[in-house]
Amino acid sequence: MNQEQVINACIQDGIRLTRFLYVDNGCTIRGKLVPTERLSGRMASGQGLTVAMQAMNMLDQLQAVEGMGPVGEIRLVPDPESFVILPYAPNSAAMMCDMIRLDKTPWDACPRSFLKRMIAQAAAHGLTVQAAFEGEFSLFRREGDGSDPSHYQPIDTGLCFSSTAMHAAAPVIDAIMAAFAAQNIPVDAYYPELGHGQHELPLRHAPALRAADNQIWFRETVRSVAANHGLVASLAPKPKLDQAGNGCHIHWSLWDAAGETNLLYDGADQYLLSRLGYHFIGGLLAHLPGLLALTTPSYNSFHRLQPHFWSSAYTAWGPDNREAAVRVASGAWGSESTSINLELKASDASNNPYLALGGLIVAGLDGIARELEPGAAALIDPGNYSDAERSQRGIRRYPTTQAEALDALEQDDVLMDALGSTLATAYLAVKRSEYAAFAAEDEAFEVRHHIEKF
Ligand code: GLU
Ligand code: MG
Repeated sequence: MNQEQVINACIQDGIRLTRFLYVDNGCTIRGKLVPTERLSGRMASGQGLTVAMQAMNMLDQLQAVEGMGPVGEIRLVPDPESFVILPYAPNSAAMMCDMIRLDKTPWDACPRSFLKRMIAQAAAHGLTVQAAFEGEFSLFRREGDGSDPSHYQPIDTGLCFSSTAMHAAAPVIDAIMAAFAAQNIPVDAYYPELGHGQHELPLRHAPALRAADNQIWFRETVRSVAANHGLVASLAPKPKLDQAGNGCHIHWSLWDAAGETNLLYDGADQYLLSRLGYHFIGGLLAHLPGLLALTTPSYNSFHRLQPHFWSSAYTAWGPDNREAAVRVASGAWGSESTSINLELKASDASNNPYLALGGLIVAGLDGIARELEPGAAALIDPGNYSDAERSQRGIRRYPTTQAEALDALEQDDVLMDALGSTLATAYLAVKRSEYAAFAAEDEAFEVRHHIEKF
């Protein structure tokens, strides 16, 4: 859609307010709203926002970051291509925005502009990235104010993929499906997952920027439709500390410039994976400790990343290995060459998808540039190798806390250079402040804030 089509759609549909949204360094979705009669001007000139918002953490605690105080303004400029009419809110629409400086250039602290830059770098290597986020979420009834984890009661105790869980969730899942259809966001599948009240609904793949936008519409849609049903849908990585976590695995494939050939495919390879694919995985595994600070960035994320929970916990890869950080996902029968893709398990919905996907591209491109090898495939759960076998295979345990992952990010020159010092400095300050805040509190505080925010 272009600007004119957006405005016509708003008038035709009786839209009163359009949300100008962005995702901040705390990975919270925020924004401001514009009435339809102001939309035309505001789409052109952007909606003003204080620079301080990129120094705000997920508890609304403003951090001291140079250049992000009370003085200074940027503009939220919406991308009309991302326009959706919101089926779960009355007379409302939304667009994702870029953060633009007053001189009309992208602000170097803008996460969506960061992803655009990384997509352009991939394009400079002749690569087009297709991606999809595979969202898991837990459906709860809130009984109480949330001050105790027991206040969040799963809506079902059904088994993994079980028909009883399908039935328990059918009304709200049907409403979620209708909401995706209304927004023209194609869904790939749906199934109840292992944890109580846990469900999964992967979206179809799309060009990288669109895939990241879709992940925002996923978070918004699932949570909002559930709320309209009197439920809390949480995409938090580990809403129940003793149950399966919610992953948000990233799937991707690499195509030629024309978007016609999937460059991950090589029919002569035992896993049908090209050299390019191996090098991309090599780069990802090399950068994974720091990359986790972007893909699994919250305090709660590190309670999910445990061995034997199907979330991945080691820098390993393998064909259809669901305990490995990177799984080579086998292609569909008859269309292997187009459908083979890679899956990063170490990703969850508490991330900022623009930073997560951008960081993934940076790491993979570095692997291609340096022709890194990922090592031998793990053909068993890497948690079942002995320590000696893991070290002989070059398999490392992930950082086990948010703080360690942030340190690894800070030490990773390739990721830090790609982020640029303004974005990286603000991100580290915000995320480190969250670590300090949650480490000083108890589990109930952690669970409540992550369940309610993500
Ligand atoms: N719930 C698992 C996770 O935390 C993923 C299970 C699966 O889909 O393989 O990532
Ligand atoms: Mg799953």
